[in-house]
Amino acid sequence: MTDCIFCKIAHGEIPCRKLYEDGEMLAFHDINPVAPVHFMLIPKLHLASLAEAEDAHAALLGRMLVLSPRLAREQGLENGFRTVINTGKGGGQEVFHLHIHIIGGGNIPPMVRRS
Ligand code: AMP
Ligand code: ZN
Repeated sequence: MTDCIFCKIAHGEIPCRKLYEDGEMLAFHDINPVAPVHFMLIPKLHLASLAEAEDAHAALLGRMLVLSPRLAREQGLENGFRTVINTGKGGGQEVFHLHIHIIGGGNIPPMVRRS
């Protein structure tokens, strides 16, 4: 996916503030954070969104979820954090390369405000 910004980050073609990398995933700080700590974890494999995930991706996605609390703790989020995966236009997704937002610190409001 040559026009995918997160593929370019994963391949080192666009800089990022990296906080974790292994053979199959990468974590880096969000360029426009919504909280004191806001980073995202992406697979190096291009997967446009969670809607494209198949059984073959289950182990990778599981490893990403299991890694998330460790990375959150390393960023000082000992008291907890929020994970968000926006999926598709209907889910407010803007970058079409699957990513888990990990958000915390400060005052994290309820996820959905009920009127
Ligand atoms: P989403 O709405 O879930 O697709 O989120 C996309 C996120 O990517 C937003 O929070 C952006 O601030 C973030 N983002 C876009 N470009 C970059 C970049 N070059 N480096 C880091 N984060 C980025
Ligand atoms: Zn991509």
